[in-house]
Amino acid sequence: MNRHIDFCILGGGIAGLSIADALSERDIECLVVEKNDIGSGASGTPGGLVNPATGRRAKKSWKAEQGYVAIAENLEKVQFYSNQSFYKKNGLLRPALYEKMARKMKDQYENTSWPDGWCEWKTKDQIQEIHPGITCVDGGLWLPVGLTVDVGSYMVAYAKYLEEAGIEIITNNDPKEIHQQTTDKWKIVIEGEIIIAKHLIYATGHFTKETKYWDWLPINLIKGQVAKFKKENDSLSFSHSISSLGYIARLDEEDTFIQGSTYEHDFLDVKPDDEGESYLRKRLRRTLPLLEDQSTVVDQWAGVRTSTPNYKPILGEHPEYKNLHVFTGLGSKGLLYGKFLANHYVTHLTEQVPLYPKVTLSRFDYNP
Ligand SMILES: Cc1cc2nc3c(=O)[nH]c(=O)nc-3n(C[C@H](O)[C@H](O)[C@H](O)COP(=O)(O)OP(=O)(O)OC[C@H]3O[C@@H](n4cnc5c(N)ncnc54)[C@H](O)[C@@H]3O)c2cc1C
Repeated sequence: MNRHIDFCILGGGIAGLSIADALSERDIECLVVEKNDIGSGASGTPGGLVNPATGRRAKKSWKAEQGYVAIAENLEKVQFYSNQSFYKKNGLLRPALYEKMARKMKDQYENTSWPDGWCEWKTKDQIQEIHPGITCVDGGLWLPVGLTVDVGSYMVAYAKYLEEAGIEIITNNDPKEIHQQTTDKWKIVIEGEIIIAKHLIYATGHFTKETKYWDWLPINLIKGQVAKFKKENDSLSFSHSISSLGYIARLDEEDTFIQGSTYEHDFLDVKPDDEGESYLRKRLRRTLPLLEDQSTVVDQWAGVRTSTPNYKPILGEHPEYKNLHVFTGLGSKGLLYGKFLANHYVTHLTEQVPLYPKVTLSRFDYNP
């Protein structure tokens, strides 16, 4: 017998789980299907930042306040479902590494209205007082609100939270048969069981472009590698994370930290490699030369981000196929935008609230 459901979501990363959560909050029935393990895509990164001041100028991100509130509340909610502490509000230091960077950062800071307590300009001496030995030219930013997240562990706990809320999550199952059943229903075959879903959402990260429905989307794929380092010297301890050229995510209580990330536009596979390690070492050295001297790489990881022409995610219903949706293009801000935009999309679907023009799928031409 066929099984009928309101929503079937493909993908168990930040996008897929956040959409499932937003639906469940409105008591809408859904099923999540992940072809590998939860968080096996880009959302498995061992150290990610919620950084509202991005790019070399430290520009306040689009919808930073809403995005931040959504992820901060979600992390707190989900933490309850894990024995491991997977995030910290440990603040973020943004030292300017060269003069042009300092000038642009300061200019940006002075012309931005930051919420109270989010962001402070610090002189070079103040930055070096917070972090002795750090490279800094003429000041930088201190963001006490910065969050550091072990995203992979967050995903595992998020899946547990959703399952306890009554959502079924099927993992290690790649649904090969996906067809339009009628003009407004979708048929998905999973291990011989036929699922008839009213809505089908692709939250499939960089795999989205591989499907015939979404191959026309202007998504760029960017491989990113991160390395886990172990410090050999206790005197080099620090508790905050750092964003300068790349980032240094500090999460555990021990001697390790994560250095990210490479931005590789041409790549043949999604494996970490020696070039990646060497690049990350150079990045670390640029920010903290002494730390680079006294740390060794103990692990390395790689994933693929999806980026769009305006660097904003993509949300929407297919222009030709009814009830077929997509949520991808989260770029390097999956944490900041995942939960906020999942809520936005479900509100759009249930209350007909228009989508923000910057993220709507209809900003792209469809020429089949
Ligand atoms: C190195 C690196 C560092 C990063 N650092 C940060 C950071 O500091 N802060 C931040 O906010 N973001 C960061 N990001 C970005 C963030 O990780 C992504 O934006 C986010 O994880 C994307 O989530 P997603 O759910 O769209 O995609 P994914 O996590 O890739 O999830 C897609 C899932 O869909 C599954 N799937 C694919 N096809 C199918 C199918 N047909 N059926 C079922 N399942 C399918 C895949 O197996 C995968 O699990 C980083 C990314 C990388 C690579």
